[in-house]
Formats: sequence, structure tokens, C-alpha cells
Amino acid sequence: MRWGLIGASTIAEQHMIGAIRATGGEVAAVVSSTAARARDYAAQHAIAAAGDSLSLILDDPSIGAVYISSTNEKHRDQALGAIAAGKHVICEKPLAMTVAEAAEMVNAAQVAGVTFATNHHLRCSGSHRTIRDLIRAGRIGRILSLRIFHAVHLPPHLQGWRINDPAAGGGVIPDITVHDADVARFLLGEDPHSVVAQMAASGMGQGVEDSAMSVWTMPSGAMVFSHESFTHPFAGSGLEVHGTEGSIFARGVMTQQPVGEIELVTAQGREAVPFPPHNLYVQGVTDFLAAIAGQGTPAATGPDGVASLAVALAVREAARTGTRQHVTYGRAA
Ligand code: NDP
Repeated sequence: MRWGLIGASTIAEQHMIGAIRATGGEVAAVVSSTAARARDYAAQHAIAAAGDSLSLILDDPSIGAVYISSTNEKHRDQALGAIAAGKHVICEKPLAMTVAEAAEMVNAAQVAGVTFATNHHLRCSGSHRTIRDLIRAGRIGRILSLRIFHAVHLPPHLQGWRINDPAAGGGVIPDITVHDADVARFLLGEDPHSVVAQMAASGMGQGVEDSAMSVWTMPSGAMVFSHESFTHPFAGSGLEVHGTEGSIFARGVMTQQPVGEIELVTAQGREAVPFPPHNLYVQGVTDFLAAIAGQGTPAATGPDGVASLAVALAVREAARTGTRQHVTYGRAA
């Protein structure tokens, strides 16, 4: 597969260029909003073509897939352009700035018959897949609650638009709460119908929230607690799933690396649970390529991305208004 990168980003540099190459793909071109920046990025990463016009990628019939990792407000127009040109798309989360825009992207891909994936990497990890298998196998019985701990310290090189630019989609809720919404959807197989929340700017955010806590009510009656932050250097990450027959404690698993540990606790005692150590992003691209070939679906589909955005935006609205918000999922979710 020949790929075009839309967005000369950190995530492409650190994870996705390597994942594309590891799965036999060629990164053929990169498009940035600035031609000089695109050229520098291309030179740094051995990419043959670079420019500031989407047509560089969209008009090249030899490019079959695009990876969109620009700032969030650009995703919609870039995705619609790529879909109209017949490209398969992996789009970064959050898919767009509103649920309606995200649904529009996903519906356009369905109409065009191209494969569309959301880059929710956590459901590609061996740890999360193993936790889901434990739940599905009934090892902890009926699910009572899920607690997600995703308060991290945003590294200095990422302290740009994320912490000071609402128009670019900044804020911890579009950045991390979307991932946690997808984790709940992936593990529990259901989405909240309503949420309550609080958010704060606790030292890093300027005009956007850098911390959020929310409680979600699931259709089954299970409760989900979710905590995200950019300002917690030592908190660590993890999740706990509690059921009538057992509990799963997963530490260090809300990360881009295949690390962490899982412990299952039941009436039989405590058990360390092993999981496969594969690269999360390579797995995501592998699943995407298989979907294009007609085998299965991407790890996270377009509707998954619409759903995670719907939950995140409901959390923000609940925090902004101090009221319980019902989650509106849009047509594609
Ligand atoms: P970056 O800030 O690194 O890149 C986003 C855009 O900012 C780039 O496309 C680029 O615009 C511009 N930019 C980046 N660096 C510079 C610079 N030095 N000077 C000028 N402009 C610059 O963001 P991320 O890579 O962290 O995030 C990009 C997207 O990926 C977001 O949607 C984010 O939510 C998502 N993401 C997803 C992750 C996941 O694991 N799924 C993890 C991290 C991010 P241009 O291309 O126009 O030059």
C-alpha cells in the first residue's frame, strides 16, 4: 500500500510512519499547511514527496490510503476530500469538532465504499484485548463498574495547541476522554446514555480544560468513572473492572506502549494475567489493511469514533453546565 500523510505531526513521526513501514507500506507523500515544513519533515523521514496542497496526495492514483493526523479542526475537510478521491482513511481522534461532522465523514466513507478507521490505539493493545476476553468469558460475572485512570503529564513538546487553542480542538476532553469513551465501549460493549462531570484548568490549560472527572450511566446499569488530566506527573494510568464474581486490576495500560500488568481477583484468589506484547499502532494498521482486503473491520471503525466523540462532548457540556447530559450519538454511531 502507498500512503499519504495529511499532517506533519508528532504522532506520525513517533508511531505511525513506523507502523506503516512495518506492515509493508510505503509512505509516499506528506502534506502540511506549510510547504517548507512539509519538505523538512519529508527529508527527515525519507518521504519522497512533500507539499502544502492536498492534491499532491488526492490526485495521485497510486496512493491508496491516507493517515490524517493534523489538528482536530482540520480532520473533517481533509477526510471528506480523501474519501471523495477514493482513498481509504485512518483518521485521528477526535474525528471532528462536532458529532454531526464526524457522522458526515463516516457516512461519506460508507457511500464511497472506502474503508474508514478511527485511530483509537488502546483497543489494539494486548492488554485491553485480554481484559475484554476475560469479561466476555464471564470471569468476573455481571459488570458493576469500570474505573479509568488516565491522568498523565503532557510532555513539553506537546504543550502547544492542546493546552491553549480551543479552535484547533484543544483540551483534555477531546484529547483523552475520547480514548476513555472508546475503552468503555470496547470493554463493556455499550455506551453511556447520560453523564455528569466536572472539569478544571489546573495549571496547564489556557482557555481550555486540562483536567476532567466524569461518571457515566450505562444502559446495563453499570457505572463508569473516568479521570483525565494533562497535569499529573506521578499518577500512573490504569483501569479497574469490577463484577459480581471478580475484579480486574490493570495498571499502566493507558499508554502508547505495550506495557503494564493485569491482575484478576476472584474467590479463587489473585492471578497475574499475561497478555501479548505487540505494537499497538502496527496492530491498528494491520487490522485496517485486512479490512480493505475484505477481512473484518478496522480495530476502531468510523462509528466507534463518532460514539467516542459524542461521549466526550457530552462530558464537556455536563461539566460546563453543571447538569446531567444525555449523550446524542448521531446517525453513524
Ligand atoms: P502535533 O502538534 O505534533 O501535530 C499537529 C499539527 O500541528 C501538525 O499536523 C502540524 O501541522 C502542526 N505542527 C506540529 N509540529 C509543529 C511545529 N514544530 N511547527 C509548526 N507546526 C507544527 O500533534 P500530535 O501529533 O500530537 O496530534 C495530531 C493528531 O493526532 C491530533 O488529532 C491528536 O488528537 C491525535 N493523536 C492521537 C494519538 C493516538 O494515539 N491515537 C496520540 C497523539 C495524537 P501541519 O501538518 O499543517 O504542518
